[in-house]
Amino acid sequence: MVEKINLTFLGTGSSIPTARRNHPAVLLKYKGENILVDCGEGTQRQFRKAKLNPCKISKILISHWHGDHVLGLPGLLMTMMMNGYNKSLEIYGPRGTKEWVRKYFDLIGQKGQSLDVVVKEVSSGVVFDDGDFCIEAVEVEHDCPAVAYSFVVKEKVRLDREKLVKLKIPNSPLVGELAKGKVVEIDGKRVDGKKLVYREKGRKVSFVMDTRYSDSIVKFVKGADLLVSEATYSAEESELADERGHLTSVDAAKIAKKGKVGGLVLMHLSQRYEAVPKVILEEAKGVFENVRVVEDLDEVEL
Ligand SMILES: [Zn+2]
Ligand SMILES: [Zn+2]
Repeated sequence: MVEKINLTFLGTGSSIPTARRNHPAVLLKYKGENILVDCGEGTQRQFRKAKLNPCKISKILISHWHGDHVLGLPGLLMTMMMNGYNKSLEIYGPRGTKEWVRKYFDLIGQKGQSLDVVVKEVSSGVVFDDGDFCIEAVEVEHDCPAVAYSFVVKEKVRLDREKLVKLKIPNSPLVGELAKGKVVEIDGKRVDGKKLVYREKGRKVSFVMDTRYSDSIVKFVKGADLLVSEATYSAEESELADERGHLTSVDAAKIAKKGKVGGLVLMHLSQRYEAVPKVILEEAKGVFENVRVVEDLDEVEL
């Protein structure tokens, strides 16, 4: 069975929260991993509303250290600590992240030190790889060090168990050799492993938060099954978007189209679209059909 990747959009707003949209945060669940992408103020209450447990977080990926993406961290870390978080928490972020994490722990006070935290400053490239999945980062253009991330489940070669049963191949270490696609001799018969395996397609989810448009992002998200992107402004505000280092709805849709992604999810909408998120959606649709604007607590599974 293919393991699902589940996303919960905990906050879908931008710098100023609204009644409808909290500051940005997304939780990605895959097997035992709970990966939090950004942690705007109030994220821990969003966890409660979504009936999720912050103590299950395994990794936190910070896109950049603007307040709207990180001011929920001190509170979240404190809650994890008080609830007896007993794993090693990995925090990834752009240049400067080590210093920021230290400052945030100062805010919480000495007790914060009881959390086992490993901080990794990242730029462009693979930042984590356990053989099953990896996390990639790329530096993006904002007015402070900022990165985008991709979560990539690798393509796997699997043994077709039904074929094994049909051929009456008994369980033995030789089955492991077949799984590698090798030819082995079983009960005097040559069995070709290549005929007993199949490929399980890899999957990729990319997260592009605050950034100015650039072709390097297109390259980074190439072929993703899902692109989660900021779309702070409508295309009418493209000058403002460029000045402030943000994407418009159309910029995000262009990245999706050029990058040939499967689907596009838009978030990080400016408060000015509170009553009219449709503006953002319709504009993006004009460029890339398979797009949706998510609301707080929406879920997507793939
Ligand atoms: Zn932002
Ligand atoms: Zn920002």
